[in-house]
Amino acid sequence: MKKKLDPSAFFFVLILIGILMYVVYSNMNYNTILSFTDGMLKEALKDNEVLEVQIIQNQQVPTGTVQVTFKDGTKISYYTSDVNETQKMVEKNADNKVPVLLHDVKGNTWLERMLPYIFAFILVILFLSMFGRRVQRGGGQDSLSNFGKSRAKKDLKTGICFDDVAGLEEEKQELKEIVDFLKDPKKYTDIGARIPKGVILVGPPGTGKTLLAKAVSGEAGVPFFSISGSDFVEMFVGVGAARVRDLFSDAKKNAPCIVFIDEIDAVARRRGTGLGGGNDEKEQTLNQLLVEMDGFGKNSGIIVMAATNRVDILDPAILRPGRFDRKVTVSRPDVKGREEILKVHAKAKSIGEDVNLAEIARTTSGFAGADLENLLNEAAIFAAADNRAFITKADIDRSFIKIGIGTEKKSRLVPEKDRRLTAYHEAGHAILFHDLSEMDPVYAVSIIPTGADGVGGFTMPLPGNDNAFRTKTMMMQNIMVSYGGRIAEELMLNEISTGASADIRSASQIARAMVTKYGFSEKLGPINYETDDSDQVFLGRELGHERYFGAEISKEIDAEVKRIINECYEEAKKILISRKDILEKCATLLLAKERISGEEFNALFDDENTVTSENTYTSESADV
Ligand code: ATP
Repeated sequence: MKKKLDPSAFFFVLILIGILMYVVYSNMNYNTILSFTDGMLKEALKDNEVLEVQIIQNQQVPTGTVQVTFKDGTKISYYTSDVNETQKMVEKNADNKVPVLLHDVKGNTWLERMLPYIFAFILVILFLSMFGRRVQRGGGQDSLSNFGKSRAKKDLKTGICFDDVAGLEEEKQELKEIVDFLKDPKKYTDIGARIPKGVILVGPPGTGKTLLAKAVSGEAGVPFFSISGSDFVEMFVGVGAARVRDLFSDAKKNAPCIVFIDEIDAVARRRGTGLGGGNDEKEQTLNQLLVEMDGFGKNSGIIVMAATNRVDILDPAILRPGRFDRKVTVSRPDVKGREEILKVHAKAKSIGEDVNLAEIARTTSGFAGADLENLLNEAAIFAAADNRAFITKADIDRSFIKIGIGTEKKSRLVPEKDRRLTAYHEAGHAILFHDLSEMDPVYAVSIIPTGADGVGGFTMPLPGNDNAFRTKTMMMQNIMVSYGGRIAEELMLNEISTGASADIRSASQIARAMVTKYGFSEKLGPINYETDDSDQVFLGRELGHERYFGAEISKEIDAEVKRIINECYEEAKKILISRKDILEKCATLLLAKERISGEEFNALFDDENTVTSENTYTSESADV
């Protein structure tokens, strides 16, 4: 399709043709009356009531349809077993006053016959035109034949080196070997070593996998072909495989080079899960990828790097030696890593004196590199919007809330009753965060609605440490904090609201996971009782997952979940009853200020002498 065809023009033409077809075929708007007969028509003709008669003969048989238009505008049709008889009868009784038209079903006019073909032709042209545009957009070339061409981006010089990747020292060390292979393959081949063909980078989103792959290419000074696994996935069987072939043929011409496949799980998912019908295409694409990787000679200079955050769903065939035989795990940065990443991204920005990167690093546990980059970027946007040339701590704080919770919708009008309810609700959460030993301290409490639907306010804790594991005590306390909002509403307003639905869901999920996944229930023991969850169904592999326990166990699980929840609820209620005055003070402050900082919140406890159950609740105190 060399010419650019405008689809909107086609839609216009289609509508025109539709109208035309309606007009031409509108003679079909006759009301079929099965009980009507030639005899009745004869009567009507005699009474001079008929305006026109059309007799439509079915092809090559004597039967047909008679369409009668009466003078009063009524249109009826009926079936006749012999059109010739009917015609004779009409001619005899009409006295030449009524026109009689005889057709066969093929249609009379040229237009009537051709319209369906014209319509189909235009549909095909329209489809091809849109299809061509899609190819054009994806491939950047103006030709349909490029559909099977790879969509890889080629970067002759990434310009990124290991110094641009902060932290990740072990990962960089592992990859330095690959850089060396690419720079001086002879050193390895001379001694008979087999250079690895593929490296798979595994880690959560935004941890710098792409950045690392680019750095390998930059350090080795070789071209970088990058493509996302989802770019191979097309509606048409065989297109993905063709793209893989094309990508590798391009790479071979540019060897030594790096081929980077992001989100490889989109194509390399375990085969034979039979999910979603589009499987043939994916299997063909994966097979082609394996064929290509096996195909290029031992030391052809192409290193395929791939990234995924779900190595567990990958087809084992791709992890076999000779394919992706190196696995590098890229984890979320620790506090030192975070500080280094912040330093890298702060380089290009003007940072105010009150901003302490080490402190930000301490309070962003769980953040990946991309989150940190985003944190500084959002802060820079706030600063620019305020017409400032540098970023202040306040910008970072706002950005932190925006990333964690969503943009605050200050202009949204909230009825006073809802504000009060939210104020007690959030105060309930915040007090439990404060009082429970394993919970992080409060960073901010707010009753300003945020972007998330139905979120009337939020209590944001300050991520305190980089714990890799969660203990039973932590999980119980998490459940207690979740119920804090509901309990506060109940205690202070003697009313409960739908605002706690998300809290209830998360508390129930934690309690169930404690019993079925982590073996925290003494009654059920350390046994995995998990069944399908939607996440796994989505990923396909576990679709056939069965429940390996009976109804009795299922009942016990439910009972245990309920017991944990009840215990946590009661314990949380005890704490909040003893903190009623703080609940009141906190809600009043929130209603006045809308958002309070962690310091303002903590100050509410300063003149508080009552010793409460502070920091005493652990899983030992509950009989779980
Ligand atoms: P995904 O799994 O979503 O593809 P990824 O792991 O490939 O993510 P990248 O795309 O490499 O993550 O990282 C996103 C951005 O985060 C980078 O462009 C960079 O700005 C920043 N980033 C992540 N990790 C680091 C790091 N270690 N040092 C510096 N910047 C980093």
